[in-house]
Amino acid sequence: MEIFGANVFNDAVMRERLPKNVYKSLSNTIDKGLPLDPSVAEVVANAMKDWAIEKGATHFTHWFQPMTGFTAEKHDSFISPTSDGKVIMEFSGKELIKGEPDASSFPSGGLRATFEARGYTAWDCTSPAFIKEDGGAKILCIPTAFCSYTGEALDKKTPLLRSMEALSKQAIRVLRLFGNETSTRVITTVGPEQEYFLIDKKFYDNRMDLMLTGRTLFGAMPPKGQELEDHYFGSIKERVAAFMKELNIELWKLGILAKTQHNEVAPGQFEIAPIFASTNIATDHNQLVMDVMKKVAIRHDLVCLLHEKPFAGVNGSGKHNNWSLATDDGQNLLEPGNTPHENAQFLTFLCAVIKAVDDYAELLRLSAANPGNDHRLGANEAPPAIISIFLGEQMSDILEQLANGGVKSSKQGGTITVGVSTLPTLVKDVTDRNRTSPFAFTGNKFEFRMVPSSLSIAGPNVVLNTIVAEVLSQIADRLEQATDFNTELQKILGEIARNHKRIIFDGNGYSEEWVAEAEKRGLPNIKSMVDAVPHLITEKSVKLFEKHNVFSEVELHSRYEILMEQYCKQINIEAQTMIHMAKRQILPAVVKYATNLAASINTIKNASAQADVSAQEDILNEVSALLASFKQKVYNLEALAEEAKAMEEDLYKKGVFYRDVVFKAMNSLRADADKLETLVDAELWPIPTYAQMLFML
Ligand code: ADP
Ligand code: MG
Repeated sequence: MEIFGANVFNDAVMRERLPKNVYKSLSNTIDKGLPLDPSVAEVVANAMKDWAIEKGATHFTHWFQPMTGFTAEKHDSFISPTSDGKVIMEFSGKELIKGEPDASSFPSGGLRATFEARGYTAWDCTSPAFIKEDGGAKILCIPTAFCSYTGEALDKKTPLLRSMEALSKQAIRVLRLFGNETSTRVITTVGPEQEYFLIDKKFYDNRMDLMLTGRTLFGAMPPKGQELEDHYFGSIKERVAAFMKELNIELWKLGILAKTQHNEVAPGQFEIAPIFASTNIATDHNQLVMDVMKKVAIRHDLVCLLHEKPFAGVNGSGKHNNWSLATDDGQNLLEPGNTPHENAQFLTFLCAVIKAVDDYAELLRLSAANPGNDHRLGANEAPPAIISIFLGEQMSDILEQLANGGVKSSKQGGTITVGVSTLPTLVKDVTDRNRTSPFAFTGNKFEFRMVPSSLSIAGPNVVLNTIVAEVLSQIADRLEQATDFNTELQKILGEIARNHKRIIFDGNGYSEEWVAEAEKRGLPNIKSMVDAVPHLITEKSVKLFEKHNVFSEVELHSRYEILMEQYCKQINIEAQTMIHMAKRQILPAVVKYATNLAASINTIKNASAQADVSAQEDILNEVSALLASFKQKVYNLEALAEEAKAMEEDLYKKGVFYRDVVFKAMNSLRADADKLETLVDAELWPIPTYAQMLFML
């Protein structure tokens, strides 16, 4: 309790340190969304500075989230010179409210030319300032939004805040129609579960692919993978437990509600989940979680891998975005209560989400696209790239009733008797879980399970908030016009239940049959990032985001460019890394082994003409043949990567070339190397193996 929030300029600190009127004014902005009164900034800055200096901070920074997907910071010390050659510590209201980093060196997707450098950061007081401790340095971090000189968003936070406002506005309209006069805002809440791998740092240091690309580009499957299912929820190794302990402490200091931890399915894979918070804070916190995990791991001679698919052949990592809607007076709008069929308001919000997900499945899919997730969705892992919703027995039954003209009953959970008299009787949840659904209703929230492990959750939540805002606005439009509220509502819910049934799927989402069935239902199955990204700039998307003031058309186009370029650059880096490792590590090792074999054959034959050297000869022939093929493929990949880089065609075509040609050549090259790894003397193999990386923790 003492540690928690120790490094956060939170409500308790503000209440204690700010004059009453200033505290009240700031609280109105934070809690009620009222405009920020600039005159309070001076006082807040001063209090913040005193607090931070007492904690040992020497610098402050505007902390923001540019389109790199990481956070950005540029430190300024508090010092200011005095005439007697000394310094005083200063921090002004102006410095708190506005910063001006050079915007030209961040991805802007054509929004900014290099010579048009100006960009601004603006204080986001809805996410509390905090002190970051890196290697003993203490930096006061002020969460900010980042925009260009011309006002376009250059970051992930700005659209997120806009989408939260859009959703709040439409949800309040609907609530008013249900007679709610007390709630003033609706906030989306998020609890992201974060998966990750840990490996020993000494192996990482010898893997250029992990260092430069986050994933292994070569590596034969070890004799054991995850088939025994013995890692999931297993006893946590001491070294990992020590890491987790320190991680929790660091996160608690930052006011992050780290709650759950466990071993995940793949060897070397783990998960951490916090208690949910408002989407804005949850997003900031998740960025911090990823940052702190990497840093704490190093202290334990471990490396934390956040890539979606660091190792072929075992599960990759994702992030489960648990999402719900809550009023500012504490009502969860996705809470069904005991008799959901009577709870018309709940059903309205539930149906709004269902329609939104069906109407905008492509955008939702896009929001979960990054180069790493291409290895999972619809590719080398079970989850397909198809968006569907799991509702569970009770809700599916209610939806069915709605479709048929009105609901009369709700299926109840009941109890389970375990069959041993000393064990308690368990109250059953009304729905079972479905681990295979990309978008599952889990009792009082939806769990969007497609999100990539390394991605900021801002994007997925921008889409979720905006598409639900859109459907709520459609519902509000109709209800506000209706002569009879109840009749119109019944009509709307019935229509949604009938028209959007196709998105509901409670079966096994990992099965082949579902892929075929989904196609029959006309659900999109977008298998790659390259094919997902163009959905950002369709007429439908532009209309949606402009209507709710989340993105302008110009901003959407810039993001399209950033994403496509990110994809091309990532594949190019991977290809270049492979070429480098192939030429300078793998080829020399194989040549050496082949030479050893040849030498052995000659030496033995010289010693005894009758000696049987057929084993060495067989291996030498096999290795030499693979070596020739491997070398050919390296040069082929090199040529293709050059060709791709030189392409000046449109970005989509370039992306397709990287995906269909360069990436394919990479896989083919890897296949030879992985085969060679199983033949070549282990002593000579130049890079750590899967068995070492996955099991030696
Ligand atoms: P599971 O593995 O069963 O999905 P976890 O405990 O790992 O459960 O994660 C569930 C996540 O959902 C937690 O982060 C939790 O705080 C979050 N959550 C619970 N209720 C809500 C809600 N109303 N809104 C958003 N997230 C929620
Ligand atoms: Mg979980």
